[in-house]
Amino acid sequence: MSAWEIITRFKELSAPSNDEVRTFEVACLAILNANNSNSVHVSEGYSETLPRYKTTPIECKKTLKQLKKHLWTRQKQLIELERIVKRVESAVQKSCEHEWVKDWESRHRSHYDCAKCGAYR
Ligand SMILES: [Zn+2]
Repeated sequence: MSAWEIITRFKELSAPSNDEVRTFEVACLAILNANNSNSVHVSEGYSETLPRYKTTPIECKKTLKQLKKHLWTRQKQLIELERIVKRVESAVQKSCEHEWVKDWESRHRSHYDCAKCGAYR
C-alpha cells in the first residue's frame, strides 16, 4: 500500500488503533522526506525535525550506537537553541523600557529586576 493510500484510508477511521496511528505517521514522514521537507524548512529558518527514538530500547550495541547519534543530534540542536534564546533575549532586553522592581529576596542589597523583560541589575 502506498503512503498516500495509507493516508486516505486513515481519514476514514473513526478510532484508529495505535498501530494505525504509527503507520499513518510513517506514511506522512515518507511523503515529507520524499519532498525534502527538512531541507525546505531549514532553508526558511526553521529547526530541523528530529526522528523519534524508542524510550524502551533493545539493549545491544547497535541500539547504543543509534541512541548516541540521537543524543548528539539533540545536544547540537539544544546548543543552537540556547544561542538563539540568548540572542533574542538580549535584543528584547536592549529594546525594553525597563520597569525596575527591587528584588527583596535577593542576597544582594541592590538587586533589581525588570518587571517587563526579566533583565536584572
Ligand atoms: Zn526590561
